[in-house]
Amino acid sequence: MSEWASWGRVHQAAPARVISLVDRAAALPDGAGRSLLAYGRGRSYGDVCLNRDGVILHTRGLDRWIRFDRQSGVLSCEAGVTLREILQLVVPQGWFLSVTPGTREVTVGGAIANDVHGKNHHAAGTFAHHLRGFELLRSDGARLDCTPARHPDWFAATVGGLGLTGLVTRAELQLAPVANAYLDVQTLRFHDLDEFWELNAEAERLWPYTVAWLDCAARGASQGRGVFSCARHAPSQPDLPLFRERRRTMPFTPPFSLVNPLSLRAFNGLYWHKARTRRALSHYVPYFYPLDAIAHWNRLYGRAGFYQYQCVVPPSTMREAIAELLARIAASGQGSFLAVLKTFGSKPSLGLLSFARTGATLALDFPNRGAVTQHLFQDLDVIVRSAGGALYPAKDARMPPDLFRQAYPRLQDFTSFVDPAFGSDFWRRMCA
Ligand SMILES: Cc1cc2nc3c(=O)[nH]c(=O)nc-3n(C[C@H](O)[C@H](O)[C@H](O)COP(=O)(O)OP(=O)(O)OC[C@H]3O[C@@H](n4cnc5c(N)ncnc54)[C@H](O)[C@@H]3O)c2cc1C
Repeated sequence: MSEWASWGRVHQAAPARVISLVDRAAALPDGAGRSLLAYGRGRSYGDVCLNRDGVILHTRGLDRWIRFDRQSGVLSCEAGVTLREILQLVVPQGWFLSVTPGTREVTVGGAIANDVHGKNHHAAGTFAHHLRGFELLRSDGARLDCTPARHPDWFAATVGGLGLTGLVTRAELQLAPVANAYLDVQTLRFHDLDEFWELNAEAERLWPYTVAWLDCAARGASQGRGVFSCARHAPSQPDLPLFRERRRTMPFTPPFSLVNPLSLRAFNGLYWHKARTRRALSHYVPYFYPLDAIAHWNRLYGRAGFYQYQCVVPPSTMREAIAELLARIAASGQGSFLAVLKTFGSKPSLGLLSFARTGATLALDFPNRGAVTQHLFQDLDVIVRSAGGALYPAKDARMPPDLFRQAYPRLQDFTSFVDPAFGSDFWRRMCA
């Protein structure tokens, strides 16, 4: 499998060339007729970061700090800097990312291109809401200094723009103040979806971070049971517990998926039964990034890889749609250890193609079992489509183009901002 695979490892797409970028002042390389595409850390699950037969612009060498104002929490850096590196720099100085996805192994450029969201969407919106500006380098050599007020049309096209409007070379972020590296976390178990909706409505008013884990293998009266967690950054206090990060590695890729109906039911059932109502301090690493504790955990799914299916459905249909999706998934015996349910708030996203919108988002991993898995996705698509929902391109490796067009009504406006020298496997799949 090439290093240029995406996180789900379903698609292998060998680029014709890989160019490591190191100098943000340099012009873009000439693709000699082949399409260009920036690549951060390949933490997108599907093919938005893949460019078969094209030129990959690897951004990890664009890793310099430009400026950090510790009074205001404004940070400027190159676009290949990762969220992990930012946190290492700023947390000891009393700042935190305003929005973070569920892994730190993401570059600033990648976070902008997918306009990523976190557990605090209902309170803080998406990554772009805290992005003060960035430089966009186009293949004709133009450099656009974009902010929400300067070149607002290019700003809106590039946040959530799937890397297609050009290369983001540097960005300026507004960070959020924190007293320390800990969160005050409350965990509660719920028995069904009705209880989830009730808990969630209450928690969203009181807590900046909320998320639920669902037992997607549970059926009948247990369907929709799960564990709800809400959190806020801990206030200043003495005697914080010590935290030492332990990282393990999945050292090899087994020939078949270790996630199967048997292991799934056993793990999910055990997790739910063991969960208790508790309130405790947690360091930010295990709270926000539990999966980062096992390097290469994606290998667990074996050589055939896995898909993530992440949808959002609007408030008017979300209760029925989420129940239907869960029923269909449980009946299929497929699914994963990680079914995540979260509601998005009402802050409109800033990108023409941003995924996050008001409603409920459900995300699940599925081992790639070929036709059986595709058949399940087709059924899930029917539910999402009729609920007026959308799938997340950052996680997608198979959505039908007509569902993309239906769910992203500003697609037509977006196409005029695409750099003619840029392309991706996702874009060709959607717009061929
Ligand atoms: C365990 C895990 C948890 C996750 N949790 C969440 C979550 O909670 N919320 C969420 O929203 N997402 C989540 N994600 C998805 C992840 O945040 C996004 O896919 C993110 O965009 C990956 O960043 P990357 O740097 O790896 O970029 P890549 O995956 O390499 O690329 C993603 C896109 O960004 C473009 N790009 C990268 N750098 C640049 C640049 N400098 N200029 C222009 N375009 C660029 C690429 O062309 C591509 O289109 C998760 C992923 C994993 C593996």
